Amino acid sequence: MSNDSTRESPPSLFTGTQVNYSLVCPRKLWLFSKDLDMEHTSEYVELGRFIHESSFTRHEKEILIDRIKIDFSGHDGIVHEIKKSDAVEEAHTFQVLYYLYYLKHAKGLENITGRIHYPKLRHTLDIELTAEREAQLEAILAKIDAILASDQPPPRLEKISFCKKCSYYELCYS
Ligand code: SF4
Repeated sequence: MSNDSTRESPPSLFTGTQVNYSLVCPRKLWLFSKDLDMEHTSEYVELGRFIHESSFTRHEKEILIDRIKIDFSGHDGIVHEIKKSDAVEEAHTFQVLYYLYYLKHAKGLENITGRIHYPKLRHTLDIELTAEREAQLEAILAKIDAILASDQPPPRLEKISFCKKCSYYELCYS
């Protein structure tokens, strides 16, 4: 793909959640993307929502750009994302990189940076879309395309600790 921010066609329109899940578990990405959304049944998702709701004031809440839901963007050129734990920090990082990438290539907005907030940990992580990160992200987007092109979900993971917190646990392991 070109690095030209004025490219003729925008990048594939995924959601940030899909980019996140692609790094956590390809099967979760597939199930989620095929509308098998069971997140409303997960207490961990509820916990995340509670932290999100209680951490920032109402005017700082979500912004929808096409299908991309950004937690909030201040007047400081920074896209902010709120997470409850840093257990899958790389997935969070690429989720925010995807926001920056989409804003750059689909909306022509450059020089935007990202910041991930972990309120429970009192920790923030600043994110910058470098050329190297962009190339890594484009490889991830190609992988998502390939996973979603399949009629069948990828195999489940070996039971990892993350699975116990996943909303698809019953589907995968019962
Ligand atoms: S339970 Fe584990 S294998 Fe199944 S979708 Fe969730 S993370 Fe993937």
